[in-house]
Amino acid sequence: MAEAAARKTMSEFWEEHSRTATVEEMMLDSSAEVITQMEKPEILSMLPALDWKEVLELGAGIGFDLIFSNWLFMYLTDVELVDVARRLLSWLRPGGYLFFRESCFYQSGNVKRNFNPTVYRMPADYNHILMSTVDGSEREGDTVWGFEIVMSKSVQTYIKLKKNQNQVCWLLQKIVRDRSANQGYDTFQQFLDNKQYSRSSILRYEKIFGHGFVSSGGLLTTKEFVEMLSLAPGQSVLDIGCGIGGSDFYMAKNYGVEVLGVDLSSNMVEIAMERAVTENTSLVQFEIGDATKRVFGENSFDVIYSRDTILHIADKEELLSKFYAWLKPGGKLLITDYCCGDVPWSPHFQEYVRQRGYILHTVPKYRKLLQDVGFVSVRAEDRTQQFMDILRVELQRVERNQAEFLQEFSEEDYHYIVDGWKEKMCRSERGDQRWGLFYAEKAAEPGTRSVSGVGPLIESRAAGESRPVD
Ligand code: SAH
Repeated sequence: MAEAAARKTMSEFWEEHSRTATVEEMMLDSSAEVITQMEKPEILSMLPALDWKEVLELGAGIGFDLIFSNWLFMYLTDVELVDVARRLLSWLRPGGYLFFRESCFYQSGNVKRNFNPTVYRMPADYNHILMSTVDGSEREGDTVWGFEIVMSKSVQTYIKLKKNQNQVCWLLQKIVRDRSANQGYDTFQQFLDNKQYSRSSILRYEKIFGHGFVSSGGLLTTKEFVEMLSLAPGQSVLDIGCGIGGSDFYMAKNYGVEVLGVDLSSNMVEIAMERAVTENTSLVQFEIGDATKRVFGENSFDVIYSRDTILHIADKEELLSKFYAWLKPGGKLLITDYCCGDVPWSPHFQEYVRQRGYILHTVPKYRKLLQDVGFVSVRAEDRTQQFMDILRVELQRVERNQAEFLQEFSEEDYHYIVDGWKEKMCRSERGDQRWGLFYAEKAAEPGTRSVSGVGPLIESRAAGESRPVD
């Protein structure tokens, strides 16, 4: 009954706002024309590249490669949305994409509504509903399909034109649910958000690494490594696994570069966005995104930067070849990452790696991967000694400031950090755990100068352009 009433109200709402059938009316905004002009390329640039001939094939009823929805779910009740999400999932081919965009939090357009039945959800509500949607039977051994996140972010046009973060879009992919691949969780994102990077674990890590950082040495190593990049104002930087954004704010504020921070953990990105409010720089953008699934145009960035993140990613060669493609000719790559010594490893190290779900390479293997995918001027340095020196300093600082630590965190948190740091030192001393620093360049095209500081942060790729998507 309530559902029928809600549907009736929604129909009345759209009857009232579809009398002239203009863009202004549809968008419920008097500056619809201006917004659309700027926003259309932005939205299209977020779609995966698809072979459009195949899209035509879809009519054959085998399923769709891409479903695109702009401002629809906000006009559905939760019950309706659950039902629609299930249908959309079943209509997609395996590996197919769902793109949707909604107004979240509050009303956006400035047109007066006499009544407004629109549902302004929180982004987390959409995440919850879409990620709980499954297709297939739950019987043991049967294949179950679900959505996985490729990307989610605020539409930048609305931030620029209206100082408004509430236009949020998602790109999801239909994937087989495989809990054994995600340490018992439905998706890898859920594994990250619930285990190593729960909100409280992130803040606990930050306490030892330093404000804004969840990686070795915090600001100190960031200053040292960023200097290797000779950044210039206007250049565009992609930070893969940006965490809570410390490096991104540092680069933007000290070098005037534009930074896109991408991280799969929604807890990390949420904290990064909270920090962005006080950091007060318009040069940094954050998005929830999976580095293994996200697609950017070729030659999009001057610099790709990634700190202590790729340890989470299995297919490093594929990722590095994507980095190579996304960099402009003459572009630079800087990575620090957890690495390992040669096997055999101690049982303790094997257990640590297994339980964290890390995938580690030796420093020489990493160097070879970088060279194999085409990078030049490759530097691969074993920085384990520096890592151990940092661990010692960080540990001493926490021990010295125990009372202050305990004002914010529990006794258990304190021991987790102190014991964890001591174990890291042991594993590094044994030679099992290593820390690698990698620098590489994409060769400048022969006969051309690498042009820095021009071009949009995110390439606006024409939707019809075909590029392979895996
Ligand atoms: N670089 C940050 C954070 C390091 S922690 C810093 O220096 O402070 C490692 C980060 O990698 C986490 O935030 C985690 O969520 C992210 N991550 C893991 N797998 C990822 C993936 N597939 N795509 C994007 N980010 C990922």
